[in-house]
Amino acid sequence: MNSHSPIFPESYDQKVFLVAGAAGFVPGSVSEFYLQKGGRVIGLDNFVTGQRANIERLKKYPKFSFIECDIGLGIPDLREQKIDYILNLASPASPVDFYKIPLEIMRVNSQGTTHLLSLARESGARFLEASTSEVYGDPEIHPQKETYLGRVNSLGPRGCYDESKRFAEALTMSFHRHFGVETRIVRIFNTYGPGMRADDGRVIPNFVSQALTGADLTVYGDGRQTRSFCFVSDLVEGIHNVLFSGDPMPFNVGNPDEYTIMDCARFVIEALGSSSRIVHRELPEDDPQRRRPDLTRLEKLCDFRPKVGLREGIERTARYFKDLS
Ligand code: UDP
Repeated sequence: MNSHSPIFPESYDQKVFLVAGAAGFVPGSVSEFYLQKGGRVIGLDNFVTGQRANIERLKKYPKFSFIECDIGLGIPDLREQKIDYILNLASPASPVDFYKIPLEIMRVNSQGTTHLLSLARESGARFLEASTSEVYGDPEIHPQKETYLGRVNSLGPRGCYDESKRFAEALTMSFHRHFGVETRIVRIFNTYGPGMRADDGRVIPNFVSQALTGADLTVYGDGRQTRSFCFVSDLVEGIHNVLFSGDPMPFNVGNPDEYTIMDCARFVIEALGSSSRIVHRELPEDDPQRRRPDLTRLEKLCDFRPKVGLREGIERTARYFKDLS
């Protein structure tokens, strides 16, 4: 614990959370978390990658309301809403999207973030930016600490996401320093779980849906690249602690258990008792070779320990996909 340790409200009944990207998988889970605590949540989304089903799930909570809009183009006038917390969780995040909608990604992270930060400035709300481990690019430092400045290829196919997220961090710090806006930044590492689209394109939804249907699991490259996978409820816990902390500097949030992608494929097949085989596909350009969060800062802040291991997380994700079909 340290001097920035989180201070949580006694009650969330009067608290208003604005969640950008509410139809997405992580923001949908964050929204539900605060609704379950009794808070009011206003969700924004343009459904470029989010799912209407996530909004339908949130609508069963009476204190949830939703406005369909593209925050990259502008946001509705929300100054009357007495917003306490603005969570900027709106951005396509699957590498598949980097090829399909690079300009939308750059717009939401630049213009969209500007619009939300301006609202935070006008309304006095606290602002949280959902940044990403992608700010480290293909890292030379392992595991990645928040002080590592990263190795991003601005010209490659991931540049649209990596650089616009880096820009969003710089924008957040500028609003903080220049206008005194209260800001927080989380750098989210690979996260998975219920609420994801089965066709999202990221590795866990791909492997789980392939294993469930008996299709070949597609390992890109030789599968020796690594990732560290965090179940969504653990991520939400980390975000919650950072939001209520007193520290504007970035926090890594994720799970430090690191797997090669090949081991991950074998693990999914075994955990789901699947008869699928493993095939190899071309490795996408600039695919980071190793990734694992150094969580020391978050651990010192709130004694953070992820609770859900990969087996349980895979099983819960598989149950969710099965229920959808
Ligand atoms: N990957 C894979 N097969 C897939 C999807 C992804 O082998 O069907 C690999 C991908 O090349 C990367 C890792 O899994 O090395 C994680 O990819 P993901 O798209 O989930 O996110 P990233 O961490 O690259 O942003």
